[in-house]
Amino acid sequence: MSEGTGAGAARTREVLEGERERTLAAVRALERDREGIVESARLSAVDDEHDPEGATLGFERAHVEALLASARGRLDDLDRALERLAAGTYGVCTSCGGPVGAGRLEARPAAALCISCA
Ligand SMILES: [Zn+2]
Repeated sequence: MSEGTGAGAARTREVLEGERERTLAAVRALERDREGIVESARLSAVDDEHDPEGATLGFERAHVEALLASARGRLDDLDRALERLAAGTYGVCTSCGGPVGAGRLEARPAAALCISCA
């Protein structure tokens, strides 16, 4: 019995794809935030020689960049989980080859490592 087929896999795919859609929406929203910050920084640099907002904008931008990097990493994890599901290796630890565990997958559907390897 492969985990890559059957009703369990279909449900897992639904969970992963739903999570992927939400994460993708978050990435897009953060990209818009970043564009807004970049644009504000550009305008304030043009309009105001003192640039009183420069430091705040720089901080905000760094914060958004960090959130964006984390959301993109999560998107990668979900893509790889979907690939493993298609290949029939979902739920198999990518490090030791042991089972990741149903409870762990429930909490973190994109988990690639079992609890001892994580
Ligand atoms: Zn492992």
